[in-house]
Amino acid sequence: MANYYNKDLYKILNINFDASFDDIKLAYRKLVRIYHPDVAGKTADVLKFKEIQEAYEVLSNEEERKKYDILHGFYKEKIRKEYQQTTADKKNKYEEYIRQAKQRTNTSESFSQSINEALEGLFHSKKTASSAKKEPKIAINGEDIKLDLTISCFEAINGTNRKVNILHTEPCPNCSGRKFINGSKCPLCKGEGILSLQKKINVKIPKGVSQGSKVRIKQEGNKGINGGKDGDLYLIINIEKNPYFKTEGLNILCNLPITPFEAVLGAEIKIPLPTGNVNVKIPPMTSSGQKLKLSGLGLDNKSKQKKGDLIITVLIKLPETITEKEKELYNKLKELSANNIRKDINNAL
Ligand SMILES: [Zn+2]
Repeated sequence: MANYYNKDLYKILNINFDASFDDIKLAYRKLVRIYHPDVAGKTADVLKFKEIQEAYEVLSNEEERKKYDILHGFYKEKIRKEYQQTTADKKNKYEEYIRQAKQRTNTSESFSQSINEALEGLFHSKKTASSAKKEPKIAINGEDIKLDLTISCFEAINGTNRKVNILHTEPCPNCSGRKFINGSKCPLCKGEGILSLQKKINVKIPKGVSQGSKVRIKQEGNKGINGGKDGDLYLIINIEKNPYFKTEGLNILCNLPITPFEAVLGAEIKIPLPTGNVNVKIPPMTSSGQKLKLSGLGLDNKSKQKKGDLIITVLIKLPETITEKEKELYNKLKELSANNIRKDINNAL
């Protein structure tokens, strides 16, 4: 708040608080003739002159003067004085306004606001009344923020803690979201009424989230206005594609590559599951695409009363290169093989 709010501007201009605009102008001109540096010369009291100028600037501006008057109780005094001069008719009208204002609201703030409006309606032009009218304070809840979050399959299964950057908005603290201060754009928010803020927060992703699930972080959305609730933050989970693992409900699905000889002879293979390592027995003569189900090796449900399964799909894979020796042995196997596994394909059509 500017300095002049602490001073008695009427006293500085040597006038009464109910002086008319013409009186103010006259008083100012009188003082200028005494205190202007061009007139007073070297002995000029520069500070005093500045004070006079300031006082004139405020009191000659209808809006500014009203604010000043309200703040210093002059406004009420003026109303009282004018009121005393009014006729009985006006008195009745005044009481009617008060009665209506009381009916309109029961909160003390808007009650006094309504009285002001009523008084302004009585004694001032419509323009003054509407421009002095405060914006009503309506509580507005902050909006929710949605944010995509990509996590690994392991994190989805085991849960994880992540730091996320959120861009959220809040009402400008300088103008309380009103965009304008004393009729000019708020310099902090540049008349937007809101400020965008980057915020880093730690979030906890619970165990067993699935693709597309929403994790709600309470009250980390946009801020509410005038006492409205803050919004929530929703993390939309995207699980990175993993060529070997994925979840389906409580089940863990695993694509397991095996060699041709493991397929024929069987094997015991250690699988690094997200929930820990397990040893899996591949029975002899396992074909590619064959599924093995290991009960109870999936995920727990929340109450831990139910467990999913581990479902393995076996895929026979060849190494990228083989040695001459291996090739020789494959040739030998080919000669030895008595089976014709394509014997049925000709009859299939
Ligand atoms: Zn602002």
